[in-house]
Amino acid sequence: MPLRCDLHLHSCLSPCGDEQMTPANIAGFAKLAGLELISLTDHNAADNLPAIQRACDAYGLRLLPGIEMNTAEEIHLLCYLPTVDAALALSAEIRRRLPPVPCEERIFGAQVVMDEEDRELGRVQPLLVSGCSMGLEEAAARCRALGGVPVPAHIDRESYSVLSVLGVMPELPPFEAVELHDPKKLEELVGSGRIAPGYELLTGSDAHYLEQIAACPHLLGEDSVLWPLICGRG
Ligand SMILES: [Zn+2]
Ligand SMILES: [Zn+2]
Repeated sequence: MPLRCDLHLHSCLSPCGDEQMTPANIAGFAKLAGLELISLTDHNAADNLPAIQRACDAYGLRLLPGIEMNTAEEIHLLCYLPTVDAALALSAEIRRRLPPVPCEERIFGAQVVMDEEDRELGRVQPLLVSGCSMGLEEAAARCRALGGVPVPAHIDRESYSVLSVLGVMPELPPFEAVELHDPKKLEELVGSGRIAPGYELLTGSDAHYLEQIAACPHLLGEDSVLWPLICGRG
């Protein structure tokens, strides 16, 4: 049976994520919205994944660990990982590759790390929305080396997307799936030759506020490239 999911969510760790996007709130809202699986994909970081894993366990939801990496080219790349530990390992690598620009909270918002009961554990210092020094090829390779699946994010958007930066979908690194903000744009993008046919199409809400969760639920089936990462999760 396909799983009803939201594969693109930001918590209060992302500076642009609303402060109400706490791990327990996200899991609770996702459950109320009828989702069976969620992926938390904060910008360049996995610090809230241990808490959201415990919150998901409490609500009987499956979690697919994720990070939305911002590459050196300023392309957003969704990295889906098989375990929270793998995501934390990638997060640590990215942290070493971020420019030493502090997060000015009055301008960008806070980057809050929480436990599963929404108690603040600390704040991350470097600005997480910066581009890290990994280019697209290295970023995809690091994700795969940890057993993950890299997926270019919101390729139909005018900024921070592989198409807005490179113009066309590159042949390398090879990707099996792409995320579209508006799935109806796929036909146009293939027709114009900007992407080749045959990619698995993923959608996600890219929610930064609670009410955006499950705005466009995705049905994830056994034929998905992401399925091997989630089978066995209860
Ligand atoms: Zn993005
Ligand atoms: Zn996002």
